[in-house]
Amino acid sequence: MKYKIAYCGLDCSGCPAYIAKVNDDNEIRRKTAEEWSKMFNAEIKPEDINCDGCHAVDGELFIHCFKCPIRKCALEKNIEKNCAYCKLYSCKETEEFFKFVPEAKETLDNIKKNL
Ligand code: SF4
Ligand code: SF4
Repeated sequence: MKYKIAYCGLDCSGCPAYIAKVNDDNEIRRKTAEEWSKMFNAEIKPEDINCDGCHAVDGELFIHCFKCPIRKCALEKNIEKNCAYCKLYSCKETEEFFKFVPEAKETLDNIKKNL
């Protein structure tokens, strides 16, 4: 993985979709598909649980992260590592996301502080 922190501040290296792919682990795929189907209120199958991480441009990406507006925006702006490196950080898009995932804000705020 090029960078373990996603544009949005999630840690891809600890994500079950990444871990399942790296280890080709069907039990993680099964459990995660069950959990994420409830969480996202969508039908997610075990075979959907595969990801090479947010920075994988040519690799495989979990569908929700593939469609993520934060990732799309950061790619369009050519942000190299994550949104902490963007001069507009923190924007409306990231603030909306942080309401659901406050730990991602903490990660990016800490990176920003040390730039
Ligand atoms: S980009 Fe992939 S590895 Fe990173 S958080 Fe999203 S699903 Fe997990
Ligand atoms: S505008 Fe917001 S979502 Fe887009 S790259 Fe900058 S901080 Fe990230």
